[in-house]
Amino acid sequence: MAIERTLAILKPDCVRKELVGEVIRRIQRAGFKILALRMLRMSKREAEGFYAVHDGRPFFEELTTFMSSGACVPIVLEKEDAVSDFRELIGATNPDDAADGTIRKEFADSVGENIVHGSDSTDNGRLEAAYFFPEHEIVANR
Ligand code: ADP
Repeated sequence: MAIERTLAILKPDCVRKELVGEVIRRIQRAGFKILALRMLRMSKREAEGFYAVHDGRPFFEELTTFMSSGACVPIVLEKEDAVSDFRELIGATNPDDAADGTIRKEFADSVGENIVHGSDSTDNGRLEAAYFFPEHEIVANR
């Protein structure tokens, strides 16, 4: 068990459905500390940069168009085992496959519009956090 950081993004569907407060409440109730948070709208190019690892996949165009379609809320989170615990909290990528009680199961419409992003490793968590926040904006909160 180690204290880890992960990057969450409340996606444009989460903002449009006015679920920002509800999803943050669930994240905090699950024991995650918020170290940094902002609201912004990514350009298409910024979304392509963030998801560069998926460049070439059939859903890349749909994904980057969606992620740049409106405001989103990136959040740096800290907790023991943050990466895997956050992915458990949000559920499987496709809400049809997500476990009961997970954020995606409860709120997501489809695999494309699935409410929330979570880093898949601590290394990616660090890189993804740096995509939105300079280190001095990531504030220790204990
Ligand atoms: P996760 O976000 O659960 O880590 P992936 O890294 O596999 O999932 O994919 C990144 C994002 O790309 C997903 O959250 C989803 O929004 C989108 N995506 C993945 N697969 C598809 C698909 N088959 N069709 C449309 N969008 C997809």
